[in-house]
Amino acid sequence: MTEYEIVCTVQTGCTAGGHILAVGRGDDLVRVDDVYASMDDGDRYFTDADGRKAYVRKWACSCGVGTLKSEADATLRNNLDSLPLVG
Ligand SMILES: [Zn+2]
Repeated sequence: MTEYEIVCTVQTGCTAGGHILAVGRGDDLVRVDDVYASMDDGDRYFTDADGRKAYVRKWACSCGVGTLKSEADATLRNNLDSLPLVG
């Protein structure tokens, strides 16, 4: 089991206003499908603000596509949507 910090996201526009396609994990850009497989292997993903970890979980966008969302108790600053966009 490994914990990875998500440092940026790739998002797309969709009928629900957009969802995450891929996340930056260190120097790698990892597609959501691969993050799901990694989570199934026991890995965890988080965002970090001021040393506080906000874990990320699988979440189905209302457009129907599987994507990612930070835990409900995350601070606003920890939210995935506040990370830099790339791609
Ligand atoms: Zn969507």
